[in-house]
Amino acid sequence: PVWERRVRSSARVRSGNGLSVLVTGAAGFVGMHVSSMLKRRGDGVLGLDNFNNYYDIGLKRSRKALIERAGVFVVEGDINDPALLRKLFDVVAFTHVMHLAAQAGVRYAMQNPSSYVNSNIAGFVNLLEVCKSANPQPAIVWASSSSVYGLNSKVPFSEKDRTDHPASLYAATKKAGEEIAHTYNHIYGLSITGLRFFTVYGPWGRPDMAYFFFTKDILKGNPITIFEAANHGTVARDFTYIDDVVKGCLAALDTAKKSTGSGGKKKGSAQLRIFNLGNTSPVPVSKLVSILEKLLKVKARRRVLPMPRNGDVQFTHANISLAQKELGYKPSTDLETGLKNFVKWYLSYYDSKKSACYRVYNSQQRSLEI
Ligand code: NAD
Repeated sequence: PVWERRVRSSARVRSGNGLSVLVTGAAGFVGMHVSSMLKRRGDGVLGLDNFNNYYDIGLKRSRKALIERAGVFVVEGDINDPALLRKLFDVVAFTHVMHLAAQAGVRYAMQNPSSYVNSNIAGFVNLLEVCKSANPQPAIVWASSSSVYGLNSKVPFSEKDRTDHPASLYAATKKAGEEIAHTYNHIYGLSITGLRFFTVYGPWGRPDMAYFFFTKDILKGNPITIFEAANHGTVARDFTYIDDVVKGCLAALDTAKKSTGSGGKKKGSAQLRIFNLGNTSPVPVSKLVSILEKLLKVKARRRVLPMPRNGDVQFTHANISLAQKELGYKPSTDLETGLKNFVKWYLSYYDSKKSACYRVYNSQQRSLEI
């Protein structure tokens, strides 16, 4: 059937590093960039995404159209659908899975807690179950999060630090993912690498993230809220540019060892790794706003409020020496350069001059969103 042919052709290795990768969350921000970079190298890539409505589906469809033009087929489906996953593994002998599908966002967990449990815990287990039974077993690289460091940590965060006090349900589900990864590595010999991303930003980014909605509100003349900690302390993030994160993801895939499929017989022989992928230079949120003001040539209407207890932490700051040593990871984009690229993309994607109405482009149609 046509569907199978498209799946097979998309996942076929042309050159590159000889990987055939299933990318979950391929229509997401990080997923789109990782998929297109792998495809550009010549590796085989098949995308999977459920196109949930957590944020603008038009943006997800546009990302999909873009990577499909580059030759990546994106299957519309859910990681919680075992029959679909098994079918994909029947058609393709994936060497790797890049698992980026998740319910992201710290604050939304208060409105829709079950979506976090369904995608980040049940969905992850379902995917690992299918990987465990696949022949060959793929090596898995998946997105954890800097949020696992929670409320205990002293900055900079190192992989050896405690992660036993998550500040949000999102963080708790990412932490649960790490425990689950340990189990599947230990019992079934799956090779698993977890990447703790630190506030990833850039073109085609997520509209629920501060740098994105600040840009939108500054252009519209809406007030923006900057939170400060209870002690009037600065809130800062280790903003990490998408291209740097993509390089880290590809290095993790390239260095992943094969799963041993030991079924517990050779305990500890399969690879289990956790890495921070951050930028090592946290920037206060107020500074982020100043850079955006400069780039947009518009003064922001700032409002400063105490940080609500909604799951956010005051600081994030990555120690990346382990990723540097093992993956050759070396972030090279400073916040000003990265935001310049983001703003350029934002202005070309949305026609911001029309304030309330902005145009969304995608390859099939040009629709007007209000
Ligand atoms: P995103 O929301 O843009 O991408 C996730 C994609 O997964 C979405 O397109 C969504 O439709 C899809 N998805 C969600 N649940 C699914 C399911 N059950 N089945 C199939 N598809 C599903 O988020 P992102 O920023 O690209 O994040 C990618 C990964 O990195 C996520 O695991 C996220 O938790 C993690 N992460 C991101 C950041 C960041 O700053 N962007 C920071 C830390 C961790």
